[in-house]
Amino acid sequence: MVRLITHNLLACHAKGCTSNNFPLQFQNVQIELKEAEFNPTFLETFMPKLEWKALVDSAKEASATISRYILGNTSLPLEQPEMLDEEFLKNLHHVLLEIHVEEGIMICPNCKHNYPISNGIPNMLLAEHEIG
Ligand SMILES: [Zn+2]
Repeated sequence: MVRLITHNLLACHAKGCTSNNFPLQFQNVQIELKEAEFNPTFLETFMPKLEWKALVDSAKEASATISRYILGNTSLPLEQPEMLDEEFLKNLHHVLLEIHVEEGIMICPNCKHNYPISNGIPNMLLAEHEIG
């Protein structure tokens, strides 16, 4: 399944595509929200591994496709805060773990390769001539 925590780790791997190949851009996405168990310790541990700017941008892209009322709060600060209060951690939890991209396309910002998402499963396979 494609949650933003997964998306944050995905870069294009087409042949010769080695720079500006992250983050993949969402297009025509359909989103489902699924409640996940709130685990602040996990979030605090995982935060240093996140590409923060990519996450903030992707949350914006995802929330642009569906009304904010349904999606909940996806607004994250542009910089990771030093003080992690409960409100911030709950927003982060929602953005990372509860937004599921079920259908759509992820596009490489560099080579424009399209990675389709179908039934929540990303197809990261490349055609023969795209494999490095
Ligand atoms: Zn690429």
